[in-house]
Amino acid sequence: MDVIVIGGGIVGVATAYQLRAAGHRVCVVERHATVAQGATYGHGGTLLPTPLDVWFGPTFMQHRQSSRSGVIKKTGFNGPVRDFIRRLSALTEPEAFKKQYALLRPLIESARESLDEIEHHFNLEFEQTKGQLYLVRSQQDWEHTQPALDLLRQFEVPHHVLSPQECQAIEHSIPLDPHFAGGVLFDDEGTANCPLFAKLIKQTLDSQGGVQFQCGREVTGIRLDNQRAAVELAPANGESLRSREVDVISADAVVVAAGVGSLALLDKLGLHLPLHPLRLHNLVAPVAREEFAPHTTVIDAVKRITITRSNHRLRIAGGAVLQSATQTRQPLPESLTKDALALLSQATHDWVPGAARISAALPWEGVKLLSPDGLPVTGNALHPRLYVNAAHGPVGWGLACGSGKLIASLVSGVPSDLPSDTIVALRPERFNA
Ligand SMILES: Cc1cc2nc3c(=O)[nH]c(=O)nc-3n(C[C@H](O)[C@H](O)[C@H](O)COP(=O)(O)OP(=O)(O)OC[C@H]3O[C@@H](n4cnc5c(N)ncnc54)[C@H](O)[C@@H]3O)c2cc1C
Repeated sequence: MDVIVIGGGIVGVATAYQLRAAGHRVCVVERHATVAQGATYGHGGTLLPTPLDVWFGPTFMQHRQSSRSGVIKKTGFNGPVRDFIRRLSALTEPEAFKKQYALLRPLIESARESLDEIEHHFNLEFEQTKGQLYLVRSQQDWEHTQPALDLLRQFEVPHHVLSPQECQAIEHSIPLDPHFAGGVLFDDEGTANCPLFAKLIKQTLDSQGGVQFQCGREVTGIRLDNQRAAVELAPANGESLRSREVDVISADAVVVAAGVGSLALLDKLGLHLPLHPLRLHNLVAPVAREEFAPHTTVIDAVKRITITRSNHRLRIAGGAVLQSATQTRQPLPESLTKDALALLSQATHDWVPGAARISAALPWEGVKLLSPDGLPVTGNALHPRLYVNAAHGPVGWGLACGSGKLIASLVSGVPSDLPSDTIVALRPERFNA
């Protein structure tokens, strides 16, 4: 079949890869000049989610102050944001959290297998390293992480629960003063460079043939009928805006994998998903002093701030700002940017003091799309020729290889390797129930 994938982030690129591997011809349409320029560009490095870093669960927004929760929120939310928080907050209840994570788990394992296959088949180098150390500051937060630790045991995920002293023995850059409650080490879980991976996959697909990348083109609408599916494109750079003709590419199916841009495209088709855009920040700072720099990825488990070393730089990601969707489309007021970046520098100072030259750090911000039940939106929707693969929230990096594979099996009409309750839980239409 001919399939159009809208979006050249990690999700679109991984979907294109899996569709091609399943024998389809693919056209990826990306509005930027190249792939991996959206949320994918700002990734924190962690490859596959553990129960400690999904964007839901017992530690989610337990604290009112942003300095403790890691989420900046201002009062005056509109109805949809309130509804979104209410739905996510329901998953702070340990049993609800466990049920939802159990549905996500098969997708994580499928993604892990796919990533391994791709990495080894093409012998790709994308700054892979092993080891993630989650740290928890207060005793109360430590108690809230217990349901996540139960899940790790239940799913037999290799990990080590560590005292502060044991954390420091593994990662010397972490200070013991002030006191913290403890940590969890995943020595097998990896970090890697997501945009680099996306670009390497594009190169691989370019050289193999069968996948065409139309970069610098924006999709403005989707047409669906019984015979064909098609996308309408805005004029390419330099083309006359006065031209009344619309560029159209047609295919047998369309996959919307446009990150936060998916919302507008699906709204036009009448599919109103209760997904929420969330602004996040990162800082890329030079290593200040080698003897203080971490060698393991260090993650503040409650504030969800990730500090990853990459050569002579530290990538510090987090600093979420919760606003209405309309506000998220506008530039962030300077004071909020400052607050978000301050959260990142404070976390760096707290967990790896002296490691980064924050004064020379380059800031970046991006928007990721979250779903109110913490699971991505992956599957067929509205019309037999339309598929959606979006809303991977904070965990889209490795997961994209698994959700792309699910899309490829749905398009091909062959059974997926995922259990049916997971497939149902990921369906875009689940919110109508
Ligand atoms: C600061 C930050 C840190 C993060 N850290 C991690 C991490 O450590 N681990 C992890 O797993 N995840 C992390 N995430 C989340 C992860 O980055 C996302 O889940 C993932 O990148 C989503 O990929 P995507 O392809 O859906 O979206 P995007 O990367 O945003 O890609 C969507 C693409 O679609 C294009 N597009 C949109 N609309 C149109 C249109 N109409 N026509 C053509 N093209 C269009 C956009 O230009 C964009 O390139 C982080 C996110 C942020 C912002």
